[in-house]
Amino acid sequence: MAIFEPTKENISKAAEHIQNGNLVSFATETVYGLGANALDPTACEKIFIAKERPHYDPLIVHVADVSMVSLVAAKFPEKAQQAAEAFWPGSLTMVLPKKDVISDSITANMPTVAVRVPDHPVAKALLEASERPVAAPSANPFGYLSPTTALHVEEQLGEKIPMILDGGECDCGVESTIVDFTVEPPQLLRFGGISKEQLEEVLGSIDLGKPVLERPLAPGQLASHYSPNTRLEIISPDDVPLIEAGQKVGLLTSGKDASFKVDMIESVSVDNDLEEAAHNLFSALHRLDDAKLDLIYAHSFPEEGIGRAIMDRLRKAAIKLK
Ligand code: AMP
Ligand code: MG
Repeated sequence: MAIFEPTKENISKAAEHIQNGNLVSFATETVYGLGANALDPTACEKIFIAKERPHYDPLIVHVADVSMVSLVAAKFPEKAQQAAEAFWPGSLTMVLPKKDVISDSITANMPTVAVRVPDHPVAKALLEASERPVAAPSANPFGYLSPTTALHVEEQLGEKIPMILDGGECDCGVESTIVDFTVEPPQLLRFGGISKEQLEEVLGSIDLGKPVLERPLAPGQLASHYSPNTRLEIISPDDVPLIEAGQKVGLLTSGKDASFKVDMIESVSVDNDLEEAAHNLFSALHRLDDAKLDLIYAHSFPEEGIGRAIMDRLRKAAIKLK
């Protein structure tokens, strides 16, 4: 078992692992991260190996506070500073011009680096004790459901990493929002914990850009992500799908009831609260995926606020490349 309580002693041990070029998984408010010293390309390579992550998918670099941005980014434009003031620490990742200390392997050969100051006491303690920027994507095998508990990480990657710092269930439950500040107006590359509406209140209008993973780099590298092993289909809450005899079916919904007979139901928010739904989304999908169903139906969510991030994850979960 690689799960450790975030005691002072264990935080120091974890920071030593980071300094020695090893991997540590740690809680953040979005999802659990799989971290390595961002200034050590050999250490970062271990992330790609453990996750079986292709090198065309760059890593997010985490720093303890805004003063550390200048360690990794060559420029910190005014709009990005305003965003930092409004949303950091928090679930906003900024794409900025990179400094040479950040190796091309972390940024998929791009001249930019993605940076975030997380808002979780465990992440903060680890970053402070490590005294280094820490590159950390989500701590799951590439393409699979993201982890929102230490146990999710243990089940998927436990044998590959010396330490998982347990910080309980992730509060936000979906990944950070990614905004590219190297262009004007800034471009939103991934929906996440901070909504487009919240960003626009501070930054004025922002564009929807194409995320790195959706640029046509090579055939087959595209939109599937966050995916359970079980087939998933999105349906409208008004739909009553035809279910074949003998088919074991699960439903991801919000509210209380299913309008058709299912073998398993996971309601992510009984009161239809979108923040609560995001918080519970991946845990519910993990449970549905573990239940050996033939099919998971997911009710669609309103595309407003964090509902956009939920629908982004569900759409990608519904696409299978295999
Ligand atoms: P993950 O932490 O696993 O959720 O993945 C990190 C996300 O950040 C991926 O979608 C990357 O494509 C994105 N990302 C990391 N670095 C950059 C960058 N320099 N420019 C644009 N997107 C990035
Ligand atoms: Mg991920």
